[in-house]
Amino acid sequence: MLIDSYQRVVDYLRISVTERCNFRCQYCMPEKPFSWVPKENLLTFEELFLFVKVAIDEGIKKIRITGGEPLLREDLDKFIKMIYDYAPDIDLAMTTNAYLLKSTAQKLKEAGLKRLNVSIDTLKPEVAQKIAGKDVLANVLEGVEEARAVGLKVKVNMVPMKNMNADEIVDVLEYCKTRNMSIRFIEYMENSFASKEISGLKSEELLSRLREHYRFEDEGFDGASPSHYYRMSDGYRFGIIEPYEDDFCKQCNRIRLTAEGQLIPCLYFDEALSISKAIKGGDVVGAAEVLREVVKNKPEKNRWGGEDGEVSSRAFYETGG
Ligand code: SAM
Ligand code: SF4
Repeated sequence: MLIDSYQRVVDYLRISVTERCNFRCQYCMPEKPFSWVPKENLLTFEELFLFVKVAIDEGIKKIRITGGEPLLREDLDKFIKMIYDYAPDIDLAMTTNAYLLKSTAQKLKEAGLKRLNVSIDTLKPEVAQKIAGKDVLANVLEGVEEARAVGLKVKVNMVPMKNMNADEIVDVLEYCKTRNMSIRFIEYMENSFASKEISGLKSEELLSRLREHYRFEDEGFDGASPSHYYRMSDGYRFGIIEPYEDDFCKQCNRIRLTAEGQLIPCLYFDEALSISKAIKGGDVVGAAEVLREVVKNKPEKNRWGGEDGEVSSRAFYETGG
Protein backbone atom coordinates (compact mmCIF):
# COMPACT_ATOMS: atom_id res chain seq x y z
CA MET A 1 0.00 0.00 0.00
CA LEU A 2 1.21 3.52 -0.82
CA ILE A 3 0.80 6.00 2.05
CA ASP A 4 2.07 9.59 2.00
CA SER A 5 3.58 11.62 4.85
CA TYR A 6 0.11 12.89 5.83
CA GLN A 7 -1.30 9.36 6.16
CA ARG A 8 -3.30 9.60 2.93
CA VAL A 9 -3.55 6.33 1.00
CA VAL A 10 -2.51 6.91 -2.61
CA ASP A 11 -4.32 4.44 -4.86
CA TYR A 12 -5.18 6.51 -7.94
CA LEU A 13 -2.83 7.00 -10.90
CA ARG A 14 -3.64 9.42 -13.72
CA ILE A 15 -1.65 8.82 -16.88
CA SER A 16 -1.31 11.55 -19.48
CA VAL A 17 -0.53 9.63 -22.67
CA THR A 18 0.16 12.77 -24.74
CA GLU A 19 0.40 16.49 -24.13
CA ARG A 20 -0.82 17.20 -27.68
CA CYS A 21 -4.35 18.31 -28.27
CA ASN A 22 -6.73 19.04 -31.11
CA PHE A 23 -8.44 21.81 -29.06
CA ARG A 24 -7.01 25.12 -27.85
CA CYS A 25 -9.12 25.62 -24.73
CA GLN A 26 -8.78 29.09 -23.26
CA TYR A 27 -8.19 27.74 -19.74
CA CYS A 28 -5.64 25.11 -20.75
CA MET A 29 -3.76 25.59 -24.03
CA PRO A 30 -4.95 28.76 -25.80
CA GLU A 31 -1.81 28.74 -27.96
CA LYS A 32 0.09 25.81 -29.38
CA PRO A 33 3.13 25.42 -27.09
CA PHE A 34 6.45 26.68 -28.39
CA SER A 35 7.59 23.07 -28.71
CA TRP A 36 6.13 19.66 -27.99
CA VAL A 37 8.02 16.96 -26.16
CA PRO A 38 9.99 15.16 -28.92
CA LYS A 39 8.31 11.89 -29.89
CA GLU A 40 11.41 9.86 -28.95
CA ASN A 41 11.10 11.10 -25.33
CA LEU A 42 7.58 9.71 -24.96
CA LEU A 43 7.18 6.41 -23.19
CA THR A 44 5.83 3.71 -25.49
CA PHE A 45 2.69 1.86 -24.43
CA GLU A 46 4.86 -1.17 -23.55
CA GLU A 47 6.96 1.06 -21.26
CA LEU A 48 3.91 2.72 -19.73
CA PHE A 49 2.41 -0.71 -19.14
CA LEU A 50 5.56 -1.88 -17.38
CA PHE A 51 5.12 1.02 -14.96
CA VAL A 52 1.38 0.37 -14.64
CA LYS A 53 2.15 -3.18 -13.47
CA VAL A 54 4.61 -1.81 -10.88
CA ALA A 55 2.02 0.72 -9.71
CA ILE A 56 -0.77 -1.86 -9.43
CA ASP A 57 1.50 -4.21 -7.52
CA GLU A 58 2.36 -1.34 -5.13
CA GLY A 59 -1.34 -0.61 -4.42
CA ILE A 60 -2.84 1.48 -7.25
CA LYS A 61 -6.53 0.55 -7.71
CA LYS A 62 -7.80 3.22 -10.06
CA ILE A 63 -6.27 4.40 -13.34
CA ARG A 64 -7.41 7.26 -15.52
CA ILE A 65 -6.05 7.84 -19.02
CA THR A 66 -5.88 11.53 -19.87
CA GLY A 67 -3.82 14.09 -21.79
CA GLY A 68 -3.64 16.46 -23.78
CA GLU A 69 -6.19 14.64 -25.79
CA PRO A 70 -5.70 10.90 -25.20
CA LEU A 71 -7.62 9.87 -28.32
CA LEU A 72 -4.90 11.47 -30.45
CA ARG A 73 -2.58 8.67 -29.45
CA GLU A 74 -2.76 5.79 -31.89
CA ASP A 75 -3.64 2.31 -30.58
CA LEU A 76 -4.90 3.61 -27.26
CA ASP A 77 -7.37 0.74 -27.11
CA LYS A 78 -4.45 -1.71 -27.17
CA PHE A 79 -2.91 0.01 -24.12
CA ILE A 80 -6.26 -0.14 -22.34
CA LYS A 81 -6.55 -3.84 -23.14
CA MET A 82 -3.06 -4.49 -21.72
CA ILE A 83 -4.14 -2.92 -18.41
CA TYR A 84 -7.51 -4.67 -18.40
CA ASP A 85 -5.97 -8.07 -19.08
CA TYR A 86 -3.45 -7.60 -16.26
CA ALA A 87 -6.00 -6.37 -13.71
CA PRO A 88 -9.65 -6.63 -14.81
CA ASP A 89 -10.84 -5.25 -11.46
CA ILE A 90 -8.96 -1.97 -11.79
CA ASP A 91 -11.28 1.02 -12.06
CA LEU A 92 -10.21 2.01 -15.58
CA ALA A 93 -11.44 5.38 -16.84
CA MET A 94 -10.53 8.09 -19.33
CA THR A 95 -10.99 11.86 -19.63
CA THR A 96 -11.49 13.14 -23.18
CA ASN A 97 -12.78 16.12 -25.12
CA ALA A 98 -14.83 13.53 -27.11
CA TYR A 99 -14.00 15.03 -30.51
CA LEU A 100 -12.80 11.63 -31.79
CA LEU A 101 -15.08 9.50 -29.62
CA LYS A 102 -17.72 8.59 -32.18
CA SER A 103 -15.32 6.38 -34.13
CA THR A 104 -13.43 5.01 -31.09
CA ALA A 105 -16.04 4.37 -28.37
CA GLN A 106 -16.82 0.78 -29.40
CA LYS A 107 -13.13 -0.25 -29.51
CA LEU A 108 -12.45 1.39 -26.14
CA LYS A 109 -15.37 -0.41 -24.53
CA GLU A 110 -14.29 -3.76 -25.99
CA ALA A 111 -10.74 -3.15 -24.74
CA GLY A 112 -12.00 -2.89 -21.14
CA LEU A 113 -12.57 0.81 -20.51
CA LYS A 114 -15.31 1.25 -17.92
CA ARG A 115 -16.00 4.94 -17.59
CA LEU A 116 -15.48 8.24 -19.36
CA ASN A 117 -15.35 11.86 -18.25
CA VAL A 118 -16.15 14.21 -21.10
CA SER A 119 -15.57 17.96 -21.05
CA ILE A 120 -18.70 19.85 -22.14
CA ASP A 121 -18.45 23.56 -21.35
CA THR A 122 -21.30 24.74 -23.54
CA LEU A 123 -24.16 23.62 -25.75
CA LYS A 124 -23.81 26.58 -28.10
CA PRO A 125 -21.65 25.94 -31.19
CA GLU A 126 -20.36 29.52 -31.32
CA VAL A 127 -19.32 29.44 -27.64
CA ALA A 128 -17.62 26.06 -28.15
CA GLN A 129 -15.73 27.64 -31.04
CA LYS A 130 -14.67 30.51 -28.78
CA ILE A 131 -13.52 28.23 -25.94
CA ALA A 132 -11.82 25.48 -27.98
CA GLY A 133 -10.61 27.55 -30.92
CA LYS A 134 -12.57 25.57 -33.51
CA ASP A 135 -16.04 24.32 -34.38
CA VAL A 136 -16.18 21.24 -32.15
CA LEU A 137 -19.61 20.90 -30.58
CA ALA A 138 -21.39 18.60 -33.07
CA ASN A 139 -18.56 16.03 -32.93
CA VAL A 140 -18.41 16.19 -29.13
CA LEU A 141 -22.15 15.58 -28.69
CA GLU A 142 -22.19 12.77 -31.25
CA GLY A 143 -19.23 11.21 -29.45
CA VAL A 144 -21.11 11.29 -26.14
CA GLU A 145 -24.18 9.63 -27.67
CA GLU A 146 -22.05 6.89 -29.21
CA ALA A 147 -20.22 6.24 -25.94
CA ARG A 148 -23.56 5.87 -24.14
CA ALA A 149 -24.90 3.65 -26.91
CA VAL A 150 -22.00 1.19 -26.56
CA GLY A 151 -22.51 1.06 -22.79
CA LEU A 152 -19.78 3.33 -21.44
CA LYS A 153 -20.73 5.26 -18.33
CA VAL A 154 -20.26 8.98 -19.01
CA LYS A 155 -19.72 11.84 -16.56
CA VAL A 156 -19.46 15.45 -17.67
CA ASN A 157 -16.94 18.12 -16.60
CA MET A 158 -17.75 21.79 -17.10
CA VAL A 159 -15.50 24.77 -16.28
CA PRO A 160 -17.85 27.76 -15.79
CA MET A 161 -16.35 31.10 -16.83
CA LYS A 162 -17.83 34.58 -16.53
CA ASN A 163 -18.75 36.27 -19.82
CA MET A 164 -18.30 32.94 -21.58
CA ASN A 165 -20.48 30.02 -20.52
CA ALA A 166 -21.65 30.89 -16.97
CA ASP A 167 -25.17 31.55 -18.33
CA GLU A 168 -25.33 27.90 -19.44
CA ILE A 169 -24.81 26.09 -16.15
CA VAL A 170 -28.50 25.16 -15.92
CA ASP A 171 -28.69 24.11 -19.60
CA VAL A 172 -25.63 21.87 -19.33
CA LEU A 173 -26.87 20.43 -16.04
CA GLU A 174 -30.27 19.68 -17.65
CA TYR A 175 -28.53 18.09 -20.65
CA CYS A 176 -26.79 15.73 -18.20
CA LYS A 177 -29.76 15.18 -15.92
CA THR A 178 -32.10 14.11 -18.74
CA ARG A 179 -29.48 11.57 -19.81
CA ASN A 180 -28.83 10.39 -16.27
CA MET A 181 -25.18 11.47 -16.46
CA SER A 182 -23.56 13.18 -13.49
CA ILE A 183 -22.00 16.58 -13.87
CA ARG A 184 -19.09 18.14 -12.05
CA PHE A 185 -18.50 21.85 -12.27
CA ILE A 186 -14.75 22.49 -12.04
CA GLU A 187 -13.68 25.87 -10.71
CA TYR A 188 -11.24 27.45 -13.12
CA MET A 189 -7.71 26.90 -11.74
CA GLU A 190 -5.29 29.67 -12.54
CA ASN A 191 -2.13 28.60 -14.34
CA SER A 192 0.49 30.44 -16.30
CA PHE A 193 -0.50 28.80 -19.62
CA ALA A 194 -4.16 29.88 -19.63
CA SER A 195 -5.55 32.94 -21.38
CA LYS A 196 -5.28 36.04 -19.15
CA GLU A 197 -8.84 36.99 -20.14
CA ILE A 198 -10.48 34.22 -18.14
CA SER A 199 -12.39 34.83 -14.99
CA GLY A 200 -13.75 31.65 -13.44
CA LEU A 201 -17.06 31.43 -11.63
CA LYS A 202 -16.48 30.59 -7.96
CA SER A 203 -18.57 27.93 -6.26
CA GLU A 204 -20.61 30.38 -4.08
CA GLU A 205 -21.78 32.21 -7.16
CA LEU A 206 -22.44 28.99 -9.04
CA LEU A 207 -24.52 27.69 -6.14
CA SER A 208 -26.48 30.88 -5.80
CA ARG A 209 -27.33 30.80 -9.54
CA LEU A 210 -28.38 27.15 -9.28
CA ARG A 211 -30.55 27.95 -6.24
CA GLU A 212 -32.65 30.22 -8.45
CA HIS A 213 -33.74 27.06 -10.32
CA TYR A 214 -33.45 24.12 -7.93
CA ARG A 215 -33.66 23.06 -4.31
CA PHE A 216 -30.74 20.94 -3.14
CA GLU A 217 -28.87 19.83 -0.05
CA ASP A 218 -25.17 19.86 0.72
CA GLU A 219 -23.90 16.26 0.93
CA GLY A 220 -20.22 17.14 1.41
CA PHE A 221 -17.43 14.92 0.13
CA ASP A 222 -17.77 11.26 -0.81
CA GLY A 223 -14.69 9.12 -0.10
CA ALA A 224 -11.56 10.35 -1.88
CA SER A 225 -13.44 12.10 -4.70
CA PRO A 226 -12.37 15.76 -5.04
CA SER A 227 -16.01 16.78 -5.66
CA HIS A 228 -18.19 18.51 -3.13
CA TYR A 229 -21.64 16.97 -3.76
CA TYR A 230 -25.14 18.44 -3.68
CA ARG A 231 -28.39 16.47 -3.98
CA MET A 232 -31.53 17.89 -5.52
CA SER A 233 -35.00 17.16 -4.18
CA ASP A 234 -35.59 14.66 -7.04
CA GLY A 235 -32.42 12.71 -6.08
CA TYR A 236 -30.12 13.99 -8.87
CA ARG A 237 -26.61 14.70 -7.58
CA PHE A 238 -24.09 17.19 -8.95
CA GLY A 239 -20.56 17.99 -7.83
CA ILE A 240 -18.31 21.02 -7.60
CA ILE A 241 -14.53 20.82 -7.63
CA GLU A 242 -13.19 23.65 -5.48
CA PRO A 243 -9.39 23.52 -5.43
CA TYR A 244 -9.27 26.91 -3.68
CA GLU A 245 -11.00 25.51 -0.60
CA ASP A 246 -8.95 24.46 2.41
CA ASP A 247 -10.28 20.91 2.69
CA PHE A 248 -9.82 20.11 -1.03
CA CYS A 249 -6.55 18.24 -0.49
CA LYS A 250 -7.46 16.41 2.71
CA GLN A 251 -8.55 13.18 0.99
CA CYS A 252 -6.26 13.45 -2.05
CA ASN A 253 -5.36 9.94 -3.23
CA ARG A 254 -3.74 10.66 -6.59
CA ILE A 255 -0.47 10.98 -8.41
CA ARG A 256 0.09 11.82 -12.07
CA LEU A 257 2.36 10.44 -14.75
CA THR A 258 3.22 12.53 -17.82
CA ALA A 259 3.74 11.08 -21.29
CA GLU A 260 7.52 11.37 -20.91
CA GLY A 261 7.60 9.67 -17.54
CA GLN A 262 7.55 12.49 -14.99
CA LEU A 263 5.76 11.32 -11.86
CA ILE A 264 4.04 14.30 -10.26
CA PRO A 265 2.79 14.31 -6.66
CA CYS A 266 0.46 17.34 -6.94
CA LEU A 267 -1.32 19.11 -9.80
CA TYR A 268 -0.10 22.51 -8.62
CA PHE A 269 3.61 22.13 -7.99
CA ASP A 270 6.63 21.77 -10.25
CA GLU A 271 8.17 18.91 -8.23
CA ALA A 272 8.42 15.59 -10.05
CA LEU A 273 10.72 12.60 -10.41
CA SER A 274 11.26 10.68 -13.63
CA ILE A 275 10.61 6.96 -13.99
CA SER A 276 11.81 7.08 -17.59
CA LYS A 277 15.38 5.85 -17.04
CA ALA A 278 14.33 2.98 -14.80
CA ILE A 279 11.47 1.90 -17.06
CA LYS A 280 13.45 2.17 -20.31
CA GLY A 281 16.15 0.00 -18.66
CA GLY A 282 13.57 -2.56 -17.51
CA ASP A 283 14.43 -1.78 -13.87
CA VAL A 284 11.10 -2.38 -12.13
CA VAL A 285 12.68 -2.25 -8.66
CA GLY A 286 14.09 1.20 -9.43
CA ALA A 287 10.73 2.37 -10.81
CA ALA A 288 8.97 1.19 -7.63
CA GLU A 289 11.50 3.15 -5.55
CA VAL A 290 10.79 6.34 -7.53
CA LEU A 291 7.06 5.76 -7.06
CA ARG A 292 7.43 5.40 -3.27
CA GLU A 293 9.62 8.50 -3.11
CA VAL A 294 7.10 10.59 -5.06
CA VAL A 295 4.28 9.44 -2.78
CA LYS A 296 6.41 10.30 0.26
CA ASN A 297 7.00 13.82 -1.17
CA LYS A 298 3.34 14.55 -1.80
CA PRO A 299 2.67 18.04 -0.39
CA GLU A 300 -0.09 18.55 2.14
CA LYS A 301 -1.95 21.13 0.04
CA ASN A 302 -1.96 22.87 -3.30
CA ARG A 303 -1.47 26.65 -3.30
CA TRP A 304 -4.46 27.83 -5.27
CA GLY A 305 -5.87 30.74 -3.34
CA GLY A 306 -2.51 31.40 -1.65
CA GLU A 307 -1.97 34.97 -0.49
CA ASP A 308 1.08 35.75 -2.63
CA GLY A 309 -0.98 35.72 -5.85
CA GLU A 310 1.31 33.09 -7.38
CA VAL A 311 -0.31 30.77 -9.94
CA SER A 312 0.56 27.22 -10.88
CA SER A 313 3.33 26.84 -13.45
CA ARG A 314 2.18 23.33 -14.35
CA ALA A 315 0.34 23.02 -17.64
CA PHE A 316 -2.94 21.09 -17.44
CA TYR A 317 -2.28 19.58 -20.87
CA GLU A 318 0.94 18.10 -19.48
CA THR A 319 -0.42 16.75 -16.20
CA GLY A 320 -3.80 15.71 -17.59
CA GLY A 321 -5.78 17.80 -15.10
N1 SAM B 1 -8.40 16.72 -23.27
C1 SAM B 1 -9.18 16.07 -22.29
C2 SAM B 1 -10.33 16.92 -21.83
O1 SAM B 1 -10.33 18.12 -22.09
O2 SAM B 1 -11.23 16.38 -21.20
C3 SAM B 1 -8.37 15.58 -21.08
C4 SAM B 1 -7.32 16.50 -20.55
S1 SAM B 1 -7.93 17.97 -19.76
C5 SAM B 1 -6.42 18.71 -19.22
C6 SAM B 1 -8.65 17.31 -18.26
C7 SAM B 1 -9.62 18.21 -17.55
O3 SAM B 1 -8.92 19.35 -17.08
C8 SAM B 1 -10.77 18.73 -18.41
O4 SAM B 1 -11.99 18.42 -17.80
C9 SAM B 1 -10.56 20.23 -18.43
O5 SAM B 1 -11.79 20.92 -18.43
C10 SAM B 1 -9.79 20.45 -17.13
N2 SAM B 1 -9.01 21.68 -17.12
C11 SAM B 1 -8.03 22.06 -17.97
N3 SAM B 1 -7.52 23.26 -17.62
C12 SAM B 1 -8.21 23.65 -16.51
C13 SAM B 1 -8.14 24.80 -15.66
N4 SAM B 1 -7.29 25.78 -15.87
N5 SAM B 1 -8.98 24.86 -14.61
C14 SAM B 1 -9.86 23.86 -14.37
N6 SAM B 1 -9.96 22.75 -15.12
C15 SAM B 1 -9.15 22.64 -16.19
FE1 SF4 C 1 -7.10 19.96 -24.91
FE2 SF4 C 1 -8.42 19.08 -22.81
FE3 SF4 C 1 -6.67 21.09 -22.59
FE4 SF4 C 1 -8.94 21.50 -23.87
S1 SF4 C 1 -8.71 20.96 -21.70
S2 SF4 C 1 -6.89 22.12 -24.58
S3 SF4 C 1 -9.30 19.57 -24.80
S4 SF4 C 1 -6.18 19.03 -23.09
